[in-house]
Amino acid sequence: MSANSSAEEWVEKDRQYVWHGLVPYKASQNPMVISKGDGPWLTDEAGNRYLDAMSGLWCVNLGYSEKRLADAAYAQMTEMPYYPLSQTHKPAIRLAEKLNSWLKGPHEREPAPAQEGQRARKHEHEHEHEHEHEHEQAFKHPSDYRIFYSNSGSEANEVALKIARQYHQQNGEPSRYKVIARYRGYHGSTSGALAATGQFMRKVKYEPLAPGFLHVPPPDCYHCPFGQKEGQCGMECAEYYEQIINWEIPETVAAVILEPVISGGGILTPPEGYLKRVREICDKYGVLLIVDEVINGFGRSGQNFGHHNFGVQPDIVTMAKGLTSGYLPLSATAVRADLFDVFRDDSEYGHFRHVTTFGGNPVACAVGLETLTIMEERNLVARSAELGKRLQERLAVLKDHPNVGNIRHFGFLAGIELVTDKESRIPAPAEMLGQVIGECKRNGLIISKNGESVRGFNNVLTLCPPLVVTDDELEFIADTVVKAVQNIG
Ligand code: PMP
Repeated sequence: MSANSSAEEWVEKDRQYVWHGLVPYKASQNPMVISKGDGPWLTDEAGNRYLDAMSGLWCVNLGYSEKRLADAAYAQMTEMPYYPLSQTHKPAIRLAEKLNSWLKGPHEREPAPAQEGQRARKHEHEHEHEHEHEHEQAFKHPSDYRIFYSNSGSEANEVALKIARQYHQQNGEPSRYKVIARYRGYHGSTSGALAATGQFMRKVKYEPLAPGFLHVPPPDCYHCPFGQKEGQCGMECAEYYEQIINWEIPETVAAVILEPVISGGGILTPPEGYLKRVREICDKYGVLLIVDEVINGFGRSGQNFGHHNFGVQPDIVTMAKGLTSGYLPLSATAVRADLFDVFRDDSEYGHFRHVTTFGGNPVACAVGLETLTIMEERNLVARSAELGKRLQERLAVLKDHPNVGNIRHFGFLAGIELVTDKESRIPAPAEMLGQVIGECKRNGLIISKNGESVRGFNNVLTLCPPLVVTDDELEFIADTVVKAVQNIG
């Protein structure tokens, strides 16, 4: 192969050597050979240009040509390309500090007075290390987080699950090991994260998976699993957590894991007060709340993190994707400082015995830091909220279309649920979704479908554009989608 090889020749070689996950075999045999990125635009080897309204896999928030990220990577790679975090390095420290400032909720960005950790520590040796660590003032602020780095969202969740179990073990409650996740939620492809995932189609060939994972019905107001009408319910989807915790016996439950808004499962925006109620139930029963911000985080929701829209503070926050705008693999698990405290234990198994060779790679951390710096300089979190609002206004013209069942938004993330008819709400056939996506693509726009509803059916058109699109590009996205949906037939 050479620089002069044709698109066809590249595809031919790809068919010979490359295995593509996610897409079914036949579709995987005709990939676009993506060869150039420019802002939110992609160009393929055949010369076609597309605006990528999915940001790759929901991650390229700064678009495909942010030279400052390349410069940050080059500078760090030439200065110090690698060392594991058994020791430390400046990019990891700087980024951890920056993440702490991003993690502060809208109500707590001002400095707060010193206060005790929120959760009473049951560990019998709780004062053992008090003097040793006095200088660290671990409880400076309830939202100080310790940052553990990994390489992917899946790994960040594996780390969160392990930390939650070990926390309870060392906090005097070793019987707590169960994790409650949700149907239609996605948390990753590795064993534990896949066990937490509530999407049957991704799991069926790999079962049995890790035991100890339970699933509750999602907050899907359009197809309420409890048969209720939107706005007139008793928020049974949140109350159900209390029931399941009691059925399982609270002393066996370690954690709840959820995304603020389920993304890949169909942009499921919860009813008002849902996350607060889940937080209350977790607190009542001593269950940790792990919030998966892998897609929701870094401005996508119109706030720094998705949970900032709902006035709750998680115990553990996982993040990846937008952290480096997808330019390099990096993820993080942020753990509240008062949980970290039980890991200040120098007995043989007292610390967190987890390592990945590449987690917290200095080049990736430098790119993460530069990503967040650029977002701050360009005010991209507020811009995301603004773009999301405008997209919502533009897509609203579709609400009376006979095949548009429901349109959902969360910041600059949108889902259009297609149905066979408004009355039955039966998911539209795959061909209808394919027709819309195909027409968008022919007109130069990449969108996707998600949902994982009944039998893994994907009937929700999904948009997750880069946060750097211009006003004109936003109009192009909205026009193209609206026309393609209006042409269903
Ligand atoms: N959590 C959520 C909510 C995700 O959407 C994803 C990936 N789409 C993951 C975790 C896993 O991330 P990764 O693919 O980087 O392992």
